[in-house]
Amino acid sequence: MSEITLHLGQTLWFSGNPMIDGPDVAHHDSRGGIAVQGGHVVARGTADDLRRQYPQAAVEDHGQALILPGFIDAHVHYPQTAMIASWGKRLIDWLNTYTFPEEMKFGDAGYAAEIAGRYLDLALSYGTTTMCSYCTIHPESVDAYFTAAAARGMRVLGGKTCMDRNAPDGLQDTAQSAYDDSKALLERWHGQGRASYVITPRFSPTSTPEQLSALGALWAEHPGCLMQTHLSEQTDEIAWVRGLYPEARDYLDTYEAYGLLGANGLYGHAIHLEPRERDRLREVGAALVHCPTSNTFIGSGLFDMSGLVAEGQRVGLATDTGGGSSFSMLRTMAAAYEVAQLRGVALHPSALLWLATEGSARSLRIADRVGTLAPGSEADFITLDLGSTPAIAQRSAQAADIWEAVFPTIMMGDDRAVTGVWVLGERKG
Ligand SMILES: [Zn+2]
Repeated sequence: MSEITLHLGQTLWFSGNPMIDGPDVAHHDSRGGIAVQGGHVVARGTADDLRRQYPQAAVEDHGQALILPGFIDAHVHYPQTAMIASWGKRLIDWLNTYTFPEEMKFGDAGYAAEIAGRYLDLALSYGTTTMCSYCTIHPESVDAYFTAAAARGMRVLGGKTCMDRNAPDGLQDTAQSAYDDSKALLERWHGQGRASYVITPRFSPTSTPEQLSALGALWAEHPGCLMQTHLSEQTDEIAWVRGLYPEARDYLDTYEAYGLLGANGLYGHAIHLEPRERDRLREVGAALVHCPTSNTFIGSGLFDMSGLVAEGQRVGLATDTGGGSSFSMLRTMAAAYEVAQLRGVALHPSALLWLATEGSARSLRIADRVGTLAPGSEADFITLDLGSTPAIAQRSAQAADIWEAVFPTIMMGDDRAVTGVWVLGERKG
């Protein structure tokens, strides 16, 4: 048996969804910890109990730091790393001006490898240990991503972005090549180590019905895979979809008609939904992925978090790098709080932390492995310093409870708050 290490500090874990069951399902130990062996969590409890249970174990005492599962980012575009924070456009102009020229570069395997490594190292520095990424149309971009993640031991999900219209020459595949390349990549990577392949049509405007249909067929052949796409991000995008698919009842119907609506579907943004779309998404148990920094940065709109959760939708949280303006899930939690405030709802810190860990893991169907630090799960975790800057420290020093102590870090924290990152129990930062 490999050695057991105890990681001691403050701990926080959930026995339910705090947005549904209330903040009482969060459990806080001011002196808690986890026991890690062979890359997995084998126990969680108070520091005293763990020391009694494992008297021979090595001990890493993180003091007052908060031990949390590594953050889970449910929707990113790693190829947009180098063009994050590009000024002044709305979605369609932004894609044409900034995104597509950058994505053209990823046919070069060397460039793809450089950006994949850069992106994953940035994500780790912000405490994100798992993400679900769009790659580009180039198979090289997918190989680069999974290879770089494997070198770091990370659990990642992603797939080749498929587009066969309304994109520049050189950034289009076809219905057949999208199917063939996606299938080959799926067979190469899905279930290899900690990699999961995700079937990835970018969105209805850049796919013909033939391409959506081909990818729907591929999903039917591999129903255990996730499928990710974008849905109802901006009103002018929705009008464009209506023109391209005149027979569709609504935006979601452009996916539903071609076999791209299901329980393992991930629908990014989902801001301007029709009642029928909400009903169908809930009926099939699909996951909606909220990308709040992107929604404010590109001017898309205000996601209805509380309404969607109350009606039983599954929701994850994501940066949407580089439409999103940050690699940080702390900043993303802050933006989710701000967006909800603009809709008249104050999300509790327990809800924000749940969304960035277990909630996103649930949306990706991997909460049995990461996102909770429950015994048996993979030991991907971080330590957060709840006083990482003078401004945060002077506020958290006044805290009456863990929520007042952690909320200043959610609102004002950045990579300086992330004092340690472990992947499968090995320190990465
Ligand atoms: Zn996106």
